[in-house]
Amino acid sequence: MKKHNFSAGPCILPQEVFKEASQAILDFNNSGLSILEISHRSADFVSVMEEARSLALELLGLKDKGYKALFLQGGASMQFLMTAYNLLEKKAAYLNTGTWSSKAIKEAKLFGNVDEVASSKDKNFNYIPKSYAIPSDADYFHCTSNNTIFGTQMKEFPATNIPMVCDMSSDIFSREIDFSKFDLIYAGAQKNMGPAGTTLVVVKEEILGKASREIPSMMDYSVHIGKDSMFNTPAVYAVYVSLLTLRWIKAKGGIKAMEEHNNKKAELIYNEIDRNPLFTGFAAKEDRSAMNATFNLVDESHKETFDKMWKEAGVNGLNGHRSVGGYRASMYNALSLESVQVVVDLMKELENKV
Ligand SMILES: *Cc1c(COP(=O)(O)O)cnc(C)c1O
Repeated sequence: MKKHNFSAGPCILPQEVFKEASQAILDFNNSGLSILEISHRSADFVSVMEEARSLALELLGLKDKGYKALFLQGGASMQFLMTAYNLLEKKAAYLNTGTWSSKAIKEAKLFGNVDEVASSKDKNFNYIPKSYAIPSDADYFHCTSNNTIFGTQMKEFPATNIPMVCDMSSDIFSREIDFSKFDLIYAGAQKNMGPAGTTLVVVKEEILGKASREIPSMMDYSVHIGKDSMFNTPAVYAVYVSLLTLRWIKAKGGIKAMEEHNNKKAELIYNEIDRNPLFTGFAAKEDRSAMNATFNLVDESHKETFDKMWKEAGVNGLNGHRSVGGYRASMYNALSLESVQVVVDLMKELENKV
């Protein structure tokens, strides 16, 4: 039985993508070869890479606006240091909204001063700080659009005249944003775009080349841009599956359609969290994430019963992260409204039972 997959990442991808991706392992483009055995320099793969880079920019509305898209390796965690390596000369401004922001800050400190403009650590990151000043003499401002672990999401982004860098790992392609506000966006594929193994980086070329340090080739965005994201062997299969997902997003109506669907799912679960006296939401209401809904049982003694119920119903990955506890429903693009309804029905059932 196919499970209702609420896993936080790696996570659900469209069924159509799984089918096409598995076919390509046996015979890619009727070439008589598997995608796993072809050269990354072959015409077939070069066209996959080109289409993936171009489609990513197209879906984000960033085509012909001075941006380049790259598919790199090392995860979003590598971007924590690579952004600083390339952009941090003296000082950078960081908004600390959770575990991932904190990790980005730690890496950036290896390259220069970090001005933590605001933090929500005082309340275990259950909200997004709102009023803070971004120093205009910083090299860039860094934020995390969606906090996968705590279930908060930035609904607005500050206005600043310095370059904006954003970790969008867990909500890229999930909602319409004016992406042109950002100068560098990165996202590990495995939350909403593809399998683990590749990371999308979208960078405005004009911000590069300003830091004075020597940058090793593999860490240098300009080197990767100069080689069309093929400086070394890319994650061939991960890029291919990401391309299939990007095509799926486009065919479904693009980011706008994803956002409408995601909002319906979020509304459904949050309404139940608020209505059901057995449950309580973790994140501040105005900052709730449409991707990762975090909630707890008011009375922990129901945990065993509820856990048994959802596991028996074929629900996967509903346990919260250890730093929050309780539950986390990750509702990425490919998750259906029906799957969310299953969990909501179980919450109601628990209410009637106890
Ligand atoms: C998962 C995640 C990361 C870490 O990604 P890796 O690819 O495992 O390095 C970073 N930032 C956010 C927001 C995430 O959700």
